[in-house]
Amino acid sequence: MPGPEVSTPRTLSAPSAARAAGAAWILMGSLVAASVVEAQSSADARAAEQGLFDLVVANGRVIDPETGLDGMRSVGIRDGRIEAISRTPLRGRTVLDASGLVVAPGLIDLHAHGQDLPAARMQALDGVTTALELEAGTLPVAAAYERIAREGRPINYGFSASWLFARIAEKEEMEPTGSVTFFQEAQRRKGWQYTLASPEETARIIARVERGLQEGALGIGVLAGYAPGYGRKEAFAVAQLAARVRVPTFTHVRYNSVIEPQSSFEAIAEIVSLAAATGAHMHINHLNSSSMRDIPRIAELLRGAQGRGLRITTEAYPYGAGSTVVGAELFRGNWRERLGGATAGDIELAGVPFNDSTLAEAQAKTPGAWIIAHYLRPDRSAADQDYLDQSVLFPGGAIASDAMPWTSKGTPITGDVWPLPDDAFAHPRSAGTFTRFLRDYVRERRKVTLREGLRRMTLIPAQILEGSVPPMKRKGRLQVGTDADLIAFDLATVSDRGTYTQPNQTAVGMRYVIVNGTAVIRDGVLARDALPGRAIRRPVATR
Ligand SMILES: [Zn+2]
Repeated sequence: MPGPEVSTPRTLSAPSAARAAGAAWILMGSLVAASVVEAQSSADARAAEQGLFDLVVANGRVIDPETGLDGMRSVGIRDGRIEAISRTPLRGRTVLDASGLVVAPGLIDLHAHGQDLPAARMQALDGVTTALELEAGTLPVAAAYERIAREGRPINYGFSASWLFARIAEKEEMEPTGSVTFFQEAQRRKGWQYTLASPEETARIIARVERGLQEGALGIGVLAGYAPGYGRKEAFAVAQLAARVRVPTFTHVRYNSVIEPQSSFEAIAEIVSLAAATGAHMHINHLNSSSMRDIPRIAELLRGAQGRGLRITTEAYPYGAGSTVVGAELFRGNWRERLGGATAGDIELAGVPFNDSTLAEAQAKTPGAWIIAHYLRPDRSAADQDYLDQSVLFPGGAIASDAMPWTSKGTPITGDVWPLPDDAFAHPRSAGTFTRFLRDYVRERRKVTLREGLRRMTLIPAQILEGSVPPMKRKGRLQVGTDADLIAFDLATVSDRGTYTQPNQTAVGMRYVIVNGTAVIRDGVLARDALPGRAIRRPVATR
């Protein structure tokens, strides 16, 4: 059903400096509101008058999850913004034919650990135009942004401030490097997972996180499950900071277990209590792997909390296996029982399952090695598929990948490497989360409509952030005035291809992926020299 749409408001040609400063998003709201009343014909006429666009995506089925637009349109792009959405042809310096394709806002991933160039390219082929590291986050925040700006990225990027990095820094006297390898190296130390912080240490941890927020971080990353022995008062202080600065927290919850005590249910109840007591916006990462087979009761808990007005949001990825370091606290003690009857064989290193002795050896010798752990077997069990579906389709939840860095023989693949070497390894979600969701949940099993499916990958993640990061109001939508991050894909063929044993297979079906007005995927092929990605930062008042 066609929704309100408009073309080329003249006043949109705001100076680019003002846009960069983040002022234009304020303008945009009023422009859109003003322009919806215009007649379609006059809007089209003005688009024609406006002359050449930098780029036109022509004749696609344009879907905007916010306004409900779903119709054949051409999209005109200028200066990195969408300036026209028209029923009649638009002229452009470059015209991409989107006939037969769905044209939608670029996908926004709230949970992307792979923040190297190869990982960003794999995600671009999966339709992602903005990949944010919000669960782990990083420190120092400014250094991480600077590193990526120097290298360039095809897609937009951004970070939260890492509570865990701050904790490790205080407990181990290891200075964080702004890279995920810091977290891997910390697995060799044992002073930060089960220790309490003194009031003085807590204050220093909070100060480190707050410094990261002042450097533009998008929220607070809370990898609670990796240091499950940290104090409740420390968790409370982190939530208080989030409430005071008005940013969300992004939490990998404290416990992963279907049995009590120290269950997933208990850990998510802690999130509920922190949201209630502080008013902080608490976001729960990967509801699927945090809930496992306890999702029915956890979903009740969350619906109850949300229904009473608490600011709790969720995300999930459509796989029954997770990925983490083999030294994670999750695999200590009676973990087999806690994960619902798991065995060492449910954990795989580079596609090869462990046994009890090889697992113990890896935990001792290479605790920072990335592994894959199956906690649900949707391929073998209809009940497990149903549990996974309940997490992935939790009302109002985002789809987020938890994409991992790519490695070769245990070494990170970084820099301008493309294509990836044949033995490149990572959880397949790193290449296929979003195309898998479109294939499996939208096209094949029809669990959600296309519009609702797109909403979970575009508008919902934008809305989760936009309260504290106003530039996100220009993302996750395909409207006049929004950022020209968009995708054009073939709904009949779009698909993930990677498997747990052969993850290094790019997604297919994304014909065009456009970031800030530049095509990074063209005719399904990566444009290696296209690096239009920009930093997403929280605007911070300068004194
Ligand atoms: Zn996690």
